[in-house]
Amino acid sequence: MSEFAKVHKSIDVSSLETKEFDRFAKPLLQLLKELTALETTFLTLVDEQQQQQWVVTSDSTAALPVPAGLQVAWQDSMCRLMFSQQLACSTDIPQRFSQSIGAQKGMQTFMVLPVSFDGSMIGTLCGADRHCIALTQTQLGHARLIAEALSSQLKLLSDNLHTRQQLLQQQLETDELRQQVDNLEELASTDPLTGLPNRRAFEERFSQMCDIAKRSQEEVGLMLIDIDYFKQVNDHYGHEVGDQVIRQLGRSLLQLARAADIPCRIGGDEFQLAAIGTAAGGLTKLALRLQKHLTQQRKKLGVSCTLSIGIATTQHSSLEDLFKSADTALYQSKEAGRNTVSVYRPETNNSQPQPIEEVL
Ligand code: GH3
Ligand code: MG
Repeated sequence: MSEFAKVHKSIDVSSLETKEFDRFAKPLLQLLKELTALETTFLTLVDEQQQQQWVVTSDSTAALPVPAGLQVAWQDSMCRLMFSQQLACSTDIPQRFSQSIGAQKGMQTFMVLPVSFDGSMIGTLCGADRHCIALTQTQLGHARLIAEALSSQLKLLSDNLHTRQQLLQQQLETDELRQQVDNLEELASTDPLTGLPNRRAFEERFSQMCDIAKRSQEEVGLMLIDIDYFKQVNDHYGHEVGDQVIRQLGRSLLQLARAADIPCRIGGDEFQLAAIGTAAGGLTKLALRLQKHLTQQRKKLGVSCTLSIGIATTQHSSLEDLFKSADTALYQSKEAGRNTVSVYRPETNNSQPQPIEEVL
């Protein structure tokens, strides 16, 4: 559907402006009916630029209905056909325009007069009948006066509808832009490979978590995770398998973490998870479950990987200190031979590495 069609679809021609307009136009359409004896009279707006025409208001019978709101492509318009043959009134529609809408609707007579403003046609004044009704020059003259009377009102309505179209168009564009901004924000805060929050998004959420923890005097824990010998995985099995392992670790983290936890891919083969109200013991158990989960996926992945994990918790220290402590613990895990979880001990300024399998 074109943008134009979308906009026009959403413009209700029976809306307030059109109803007010009806008060002015309806009596004139009735008068036209009286003067010509045509059973249906109606007024249309023509948008030549968009090649569309629609009925603004009508005084039609049930036998020959032309309802307000009816829209036709200018290409198919009866008015256009009549203008192309320079006709104001025709009483042989089925013979002359056999494929036309008018013929299909059973019209025998069709009358059309342009409604112009400042020399440009903005609409048409029409009449139709299922019978042959030949109009005299006097009747057509009266009809022209009615078309003139309607022209400035129709112009006002046309301008009004155009303004609304533009507003709707702008609304569409604004919505689209907003959607693009949302998508960009999503992209800017998400790691593309795993769909996990990236470091930027993590830091925002983590600082909120720390504020809550401070108020409720709860412990905040940070777990740093690094895949062991990941370079070798890439080298032996290929980068695509390496990517699969990273994706799987992301899924495992999401699956095992609690809703309040904040998982994150820092970059490369490094991940982290922040938790509130969980002591080091709880995070150590999570570390074990994570390793187990990853091992269970080895058939699917075609490779088995181990993890080195560093954990630190705090109620008082700053964010940077917590990161440093968890990093020290991770370093200890690597030093201890990998496949190890270490919990940072503030008292000793050191970590106590433990092989992950023996954690429980
Ligand atoms: P260590 O046990 O000391 O951690 O050894 P390692 O081989 O895992 O060393 P390191 O953590 O420094 O290596 C990370 C490797 O991860 C290096 C890089 O080639 C690879 N890598 C980083 N990002 C991606 C990625 O998006 N996809 C894949 N497949 N590999 C990545
Ligand atoms: Mg690594």
